[in-house]
Amino acid sequence: MFNNLSDRLTLTFKNLRSKGRVTDSDINATIRDIRVALLDADVSLPVVRAFTSRVRERALGAEVHEALNPGQQVVKIVNDELVEILGGQTRPIRLAKQPPTVIMLAGLQGSGKTTLAGKLGYWLKQQGHTPMLVAADLQRPNAVTQLEVVGERAGVPVFAPERGNVAGYDAAVEYGSGTRGYGDPITVARQGVAEAQRQQRDVVIVDTAGRLAIDTELMQQAADIRSAIEPDEVLFVVDAMIGQAAVDTAVAFSDGVDFTGVVLSKLDGDARGGAALSIAHVTGRPIMFASTGEQTKDFEVFHPDRMASRILDMGDVLTLIEQAERAFDRREQQELTRKFMEEEDFTFDDFLQQMSAIKKMGSLKQLLGMMPGMNQMREQLASLDEREFDRVEAMVRSMTPFERNHPKQINGSRRARIARGSGVTVSEVNQLLERFGQAQKMMRQLRRGGGIPGMPGMPG
Ligand code: GDP
Repeated sequence: MFNNLSDRLTLTFKNLRSKGRVTDSDINATIRDIRVALLDADVSLPVVRAFTSRVRERALGAEVHEALNPGQQVVKIVNDELVEILGGQTRPIRLAKQPPTVIMLAGLQGSGKTTLAGKLGYWLKQQGHTPMLVAADLQRPNAVTQLEVVGERAGVPVFAPERGNVAGYDAAVEYGSGTRGYGDPITVARQGVAEAQRQQRDVVIVDTAGRLAIDTELMQQAADIRSAIEPDEVLFVVDAMIGQAAVDTAVAFSDGVDFTGVVLSKLDGDARGGAALSIAHVTGRPIMFASTGEQTKDFEVFHPDRMASRILDMGDVLTLIEQAERAFDRREQQELTRKFMEEEDFTFDDFLQQMSAIKKMGSLKQLLGMMPGMNQMREQLASLDEREFDRVEAMVRSMTPFERNHPKQINGSRRARIARGSGVTVSEVNQLLERFGQAQKMMRQLRRGGGIPGMPGMPG
């Protein structure tokens, strides 16, 4: 996710952060680097301009020159402004006063709408809601079936037009100005919302049709559905991997349907996803969610501040904790949060719990990627082998409870015993202990410095 951009920015800051004094020409050079990095990542030009001019204005001002650590101050400014570009505040779903809350999904075909419907439904259910999905994408013959599969996986009921019943589902019918479809999506959307009401579901997610490219009929259909069901939220789903076209599509949908929020999908891809970063700024609509894979659970609330800190390789410990919450049992998770808040060190016992929780969630690499400083280890991360984790787990399991809670006390003979017990070499045990110590240190720095000074991943 934004790997290249992240690498470039990290590199740019590397020199700057070590400087005791920062001259105007240092700042100008840094801003030039940032500008090139953003443009290369496909962030759109007007956004880059706005961004760099804000950074320059603040960096050349007293804020930096009078700061104790000017280099870090510049990084902080970049972080602040990146958060702003990404929309500033986290924007939660606006629930209707009178349920059901109606959420309509719009976007191009293949953007990930149907997949998202399942993810969103699953997530809402976890939040204690009683969602229902409505299959109003009647353009593609198998879209309804696809939504039904997605719904089943997510454990969320799906309202679909009955085959051969609703407005001629089986036979392709004419829609509006002659578009061929498999039924009338407006009728289905209306019926779906009514059905959700009848079943006292509190959120209804309406999946709509997309096209391969922006076209006026598609916009008209989406706009018609919008006026028919008056959704509380219209979420525009956009594939982050389509580069600059993401911004153009967003603008077209903004004009044509006027969405209330954005969902960035396929953020798990490695390509230049920078265009997506422009969308909030260009459309003035918040990015609300991110879709990060093909599985139902690959979904996150989009937090501009956390995303900025991920891009700047400051890690994303909060999302990490939240994701862990889902897999952890409540007591373990409260303990972890308490430790974080009270600046207590994480122990190998915490580590074991995390490992097993992470394993339950099944996407180890994604989670590790959120750890501070991990961007630099990306290559190792990519070549990660689950068996290596088994070895680590074996080592930790060979430790006594005392050792797990007091890693610093693990001396030479204890190390040798652990190595024997887990069938690894002593140097592997040494490596593990060293890395664990580093991770503890990073966590401490992150807490103390509010994430900025001495930031891991950015040698200072
Ligand atoms: P729709 O046409 O907008 O409904 O798009 P779909 O939900 O059918 O998604 C199109 C394709 O993208 C499918 O193959 C999905 O599995 C895939 N997809 C959707 N979301 C993601 C994501 O976040 N990451 C990845 N890697 N693939 C995704």
